[in-house]
Amino acid sequence: MAEEKKKKAAGSVVITVERCKGCGFCVEFCPPHALKLSDQYNVKGYHPPALISREMCNGCNMCGMLCPDFAIYGFLQNKKSGKGSDRER
Ligand code: SF4
Ligand code: SF4
Repeated sequence: MAEEKKKKAAGSVVITVERCKGCGFCVEFCPPHALKLSDQYNVKGYHPPALISREMCNGCNMCGMLCPDFAIYGFLQNKKSGKGSDRER
């Protein structure tokens, strides 16, 4: 019996916390709602985003496309190797 290979795309994000102004665009428009605003403050006094769960992020980079301050981007991650592969922006 052929083994069924399930390759589920998994993503993650890189967040430059100090660039964030807490506008919440990334949280609002993340298609799978994988982000929330953190309880932590950055040096500007804003709440940066954080992933709710890595499993929820699909690496679509919608957050990166919408962030006005280039404070976040998403990327696809190879589940087997654990290595990320940045998408071209
Ligand atoms: S869109 Fe950018 S600036 Fe706005 S909360 Fe998200 S990371 Fe911060
Ligand atoms: S890469 Fe896509 S799924 Fe992941 S946090 Fe950003 S918008 Fe959401």
